[in-house]
Amino acid sequence: MTDLHRLSIRELSEGLANAQFSSRELTEHYLKRIAKIDVQVKSYVTVTPELALVEADAADTLRKAGGANVLTGVPIAHKDIFCTQGIKTTAGSKILDNFISPYDATVVAKGKAAGLVTLGKLNMDEFAMGSTSENSYYGATTNPWNLDHVPGGSSGGSAAAVAADLAPFATGTDTGGSIRQPASFCGLTGLKPTYGRVSRFGMIAYASSLDQGGPMARSAEDCAYLMNVMAGHDAKDSTSMNQVVDNYVANLNDTSVKGLRIGIPKQYFNVAGLAEDVKARVEESLKKLEDLGATLVEIDLNMTESYVPTYYLIAPAEASSNLQRFDGVRYGYRCENPVDLMDLYKRSRSEGFGAEVQRRILIGTYALSAGYYDAYYVKAQKVRRLIQQDFLKAFESVDVIAAPSAPTTAYKIGADLTPVEMYLGDIYTLAVNLAGLPAINAPVGFDQNNLPVGLQLIGNYWSESQLLSVVHQYQQATDWHTQRAAIAEENA
Ligand code: GLN
Repeated sequence: MTDLHRLSIRELSEGLANAQFSSRELTEHYLKRIAKIDVQVKSYVTVTPELALVEADAADTLRKAGGANVLTGVPIAHKDIFCTQGIKTTAGSKILDNFISPYDATVVAKGKAAGLVTLGKLNMDEFAMGSTSENSYYGATTNPWNLDHVPGGSSGGSAAAVAADLAPFATGTDTGGSIRQPASFCGLTGLKPTYGRVSRFGMIAYASSLDQGGPMARSAEDCAYLMNVMAGHDAKDSTSMNQVVDNYVANLNDTSVKGLRIGIPKQYFNVAGLAEDVKARVEESLKKLEDLGATLVEIDLNMTESYVPTYYLIAPAEASSNLQRFDGVRYGYRCENPVDLMDLYKRSRSEGFGAEVQRRILIGTYALSAGYYDAYYVKAQKVRRLIQQDFLKAFESVDVIAAPSAPTTAYKIGADLTPVEMYLGDIYTLAVNLAGLPAINAPVGFDQNNLPVGLQLIGNYWSESQLLSVVHQYQQATDWHTQRAAIAEENA
């Protein structure tokens, strides 16, 4: 079979169950594609062919013995922020270039327990700070739709790998949009779950009160399969929620678009910098949902102007604290010939961290310092609460809230935006993390340069099933999610 990379997760599961192909054949197929095509896409930091084939053979053996699950033998690739025992985990940073974790992240362990085969680790902005994946020590990943453009970030490697058919689905993380924005830039479906739905154990911390892992795939259905693996309480993460997890696949048809009240925040569609094409495609998708029976309700989200400043205080503050552990002493990069301990700390961190990470450590340290703590950090926390309340009020009258995922389509590589210009591109995604809500990106068409546009749907707490279900029904009625980038058409 030459087109195994075209199959959905359900088709892969069925094909393996019916012995149309083995996990070894499937895994070899993906490995060949990676070897041929990833030279251009550069989505993987590390490919693990030997290990993948061992896991694939084990999956095939398990299946013959009658012990297979739904996903036994299906390949996956992980964002390089999830710790993998015995395989390098870099978080896109030079400071972790030699880091091999002694344990698996819970998400990785759950994937193994479900029988998933790990193809490798995917590129990302250093410590998940960025919107283009250009902030990686390992170089920029390209957008499969147009190799001169970025795939978005920080989970840009995850998005590019799936969009180029170099993995059937992938894990990502979202602290301020890092699943939804690259999914939008690469024409994929990506779900940022409610804070606490997916364990953060072994997921390298950027801003712990905002970080959340989730699935990135071609469709809501594919995402649902991965959510079934990722979601759930974990005693090793005290912020993971101890409550029943839905069966996201079984629930795909449970929410009707008929009668669904979709909130349209009036502030969101007047944002300076919202590209005409993006606005038009998003509005068309909302019209389609209306045709399917939804009601559009105009709502107010008055705190919109506070999203960027609030996030860009809280996230760097938490980062400055989290990243103190990288000091050149116990693991990671250490500078040459330190003269004393202070020199070792200083030079290991100055040489090991890239520019954007250093910028955020400085901003965060400043915001947390004695004289400024109340004026900046405490104030930002208060505004954060107001942002959350704004959403809760909106959910009294609507079921979901619609927005673009990003104001533009994918930037050109090397576009050289100032940090503030780059931060403003996160306007539509940040509030969801500040409030801890779930949200999903779905592809809804293309701009005039044939770059994908994404619609974001934001749900109330724990409404992942509803979001997946609504997008699933949109995807049954449209075919944007089935369109493939030219490079994905290539066979290995
Ligand atoms: N682009 C945002 C940032 O640079 C979000 C990143 C993320 O979600 N990890 O912080």
